[in-house]
Amino acid sequence: ASEKYRNFPMVPRVVFGNGSFDQLGDILLAKRKHSEAPVIFLVDDVFEGSQLSSRIPQIFSDQIIYVSANEEPKTQQVDTLVGMIRENFSELPSGIVGIGGGTLLDLAKAVAILLNNKGSAADYQGWDLVQRKSIYHVGIPTISGTGAEVSRTTVLLGPEKKLGINSDYTTFDQVLLDPELTNGVPKEQWFYTGMDCFIHCIESLKGTYLNAFSQSYGEKALDLCKEVFLGNLSEEESRNKLMMASWHGGMSIAYSQVGVAHAMSYGLGYQLGIKHGLGNCLVFQYLEEFYPDGVQLFKQMMEKHQIELPKGICRNLDEHEMDAMISIAMGMEPLWENALGQNWRNLITPAKLKSIYRKI
Ligand code: NAD
Ligand code: ZN
Repeated sequence: ASEKYRNFPMVPRVVFGNGSFDQLGDILLAKRKHSEAPVIFLVDDVFEGSQLSSRIPQIFSDQIIYVSANEEPKTQQVDTLVGMIRENFSELPSGIVGIGGGTLLDLAKAVAILLNNKGSAADYQGWDLVQRKSIYHVGIPTISGTGAEVSRTTVLLGPEKKLGINSDYTTFDQVLLDPELTNGVPKEQWFYTGMDCFIHCIESLKGTYLNAFSQSYGEKALDLCKEVFLGNLSEEESRNKLMMASWHGGMSIAYSQVGVAHAMSYGLGYQLGIKHGLGNCLVFQYLEEFYPDGVQLFKQMMEKHQIELPKGICRNLDEHEMDAMISIAMGMEPLWENALGQNWRNLITPAKLKSIYRKI
């Protein structure tokens, strides 16, 4: 079989710097079609009434929509937002701006796609199913780690699966990285989302898909994570570096894949609504046999920041629910193949996964 190399899109424009948020108005001005074609700002509702909200460059018929990040984004939620925008405006928006963590970034990507494509977001979960270009969309992270700002996927919980819309049209047209925006993140959340980045690095660097492209970004991101979580940086340096670690970690998995922790965390997310960052941590602590060095570093980081992970998460699952969770995890084939090679089915069994889930 002739193996083709994949031709990936990258974010074509990026601004980096403390206070750069105030340049958003100028950036958008160049993209405004006319006064009837608004910019829609999808903003994490932790910012409602905050100083940041008053700095959003809202003009003409622009609309700010506050969205809670308490639950991970759903296909149904995307459909509702798209319906609302279509109903409120006679013209398609000039652009969509997502402001928040991975949840809001993923919502903004999905809404931008669905405004220009028929049907439901669930129709596009998978690989390269999107037919038409999305509308102009901008990502502005306010917490660092997921790499959602650079990736070509938007992970959604659908009626049947938790799966990304992976497409060339998913990637943001513009990203604005202003580390100051991550100022108010609570410590536990900072750690969980930061560990998402750390785990991206370990899973990419230990994976069988590794190549020089992924390695170059993964090693840089891993070094930055070590500085941030085990070093003695000033708060400002730490914010700056974690934001760049997230970027590099996302770039690293673009040309490889994630692994065991992510596959199992998807199961926790689908069955129990456990959020991505926390779910990764809950699984990763028990993955010594797959990632011995990574797990050891992870435990040092937990100790340094006095993080206590919740326990007994899977205690009340009955056998049927447990099986459903295992089947979601086992369904993430590319992740297992990256982690363990083509032979993975001989190494990973439902019983094996159950023994790990039962510890969590
Ligand atoms: P999140 O977006 O859910 O935010 C976590 C919490 O932090 C929320 O309560 C939010 O309100 C709060 N928060 C965010 N910024 C804040 C700030 N500046 N001050 C105070 N509070 C703040 O969390 P996340 O970990 O960034 O994202 C997780 C989501 O990202 C999941 O849905 C996951 O599937 C997705 N994800 C996507 C990709 C991708 O490539 N598309 C990769 C990894 C994860
Ligand atoms: Zn992740």
